[in-house]
Amino acid sequence: MVLDNGETPLNSRERRQTKAMKKETLLTTAGRRPRENYGIVNPPVYHASTIVYPSVKAHDESRKNKFAGVSYGRVGTPTTFAFEEAVATLEGGHRSVSVSSGLNALTTAVLAVVKAGDHILASDSVYFPLRVFCTEMLTRFGVETTFYDPHVAGDISKLIRKNTRLICMESPGSVTFEMQDVPAICKVARDAGVLTMIDNTWSGGLYFQPFKHGVDFSIQAATKYITGHSDSMLGTITAANEEHWLLVKQTATKLGTHAAPDDCYLGQRGIRTLAVRLSQHQENGLKLARWLQGRPEVARVVHPALPQDPGHRIWKRDFTGACGLFGIMLKPYGKPAVDALIDSLEVFGLGYSWGGYESLIVPSNPASIRTATQFDGTGPYLRLHAGLEDSEDQIADLERGFSVLNRHA
Ligand SMILES: *Cc1c(COP(=O)(O)O)cnc(C)c1O
Repeated sequence: MVLDNGETPLNSRERRQTKAMKKETLLTTAGRRPRENYGIVNPPVYHASTIVYPSVKAHDESRKNKFAGVSYGRVGTPTTFAFEEAVATLEGGHRSVSVSSGLNALTTAVLAVVKAGDHILASDSVYFPLRVFCTEMLTRFGVETTFYDPHVAGDISKLIRKNTRLICMESPGSVTFEMQDVPAICKVARDAGVLTMIDNTWSGGLYFQPFKHGVDFSIQAATKYITGHSDSMLGTITAANEEHWLLVKQTATKLGTHAAPDDCYLGQRGIRTLAVRLSQHQENGLKLARWLQGRPEVARVVHPALPQDPGHRIWKRDFTGACGLFGIMLKPYGKPAVDALIDSLEVFGLGYSWGGYESLIVPSNPASIRTATQFDGTGPYLRLHAGLEDSEDQIADLERGFSVLNRHA
């Protein structure tokens, strides 16, 4: 939050901390102001539509700059600002805007920068509903999308046209886990005057710092690890500088999108424990992935933190950790056998989303949605989320599942 005098309301002690401390420490304090709230540790939840002004003068001033403070519920309250400040700290960006869902964060960021006649580039591995937004909505408004091979790296230059405005990345892709060479793409984009955005949900914002690599906008489905408990829908857009932030904030305001106060509260609360949760998701995910590598039913484990993974070099270079989400390609079993496997599981729930405390499994058919590349893989594909259960129980569950699979094969 920025005060009327242009300063953030941190005192000098807090400012010193911000410079010196590690991210894990900053996440326990970012956006909190106990001294402004009776010493209460967490920010209060403000439910608001109307804001009453003390005078016409105050009202006039607010109309001149409605983003400077609290002007109307939809534009944000101190609960919203506390969450956004914590997210900006997490992502290492300038400022954040919170919206109603992760998908809404992606679409709002795109709409903030494109106009009729523009062209955008989107990775063939992007979140599927973003692909649908590009092909079924942006086309109606005269914005064309070209999907590109996620492994394109610096060769993205060959796809840039005179009217290319934006490059959308997602690394790793949240179903197929290809790693993108973000710094190489950003360098080409900068030189060509093209903006870049990344869906940073997989890293939780903690294990990948997009702004260090030249990204302009970083998006998260805060629905996933930030909230962390499968109980809210929330999205964030973090911008590299004030100009970009204003573009997004104005667009969100024009669209009328709004993150609800209880969800912002849950989001900022989740950030306090994000580092420990992610570390456990990572550990459980890697244990599962290594165990799965040794199973005869599995053709390939798709997890960039494994040395055998084609994306491992980039992951190791750019990331400081992995979350609990990865994929497996099975040997060519039939659908009835795979369905029986999934139906037999007790620890792993069958469902969309991820980033909550619980383990999930979902079948997927990536080959069916690709347009720029072919998804190589013949067997059934499953996406797994390693939750916070004991990993021995997770492994035992899948072991039982595999015996069901083999019985049906
Ligand atoms: C879930 C997800 C989204 C969308 O988030 P919602 O809050 O469900 O709208 C966007 N990107 C990725 C990578 C996701 O996994």
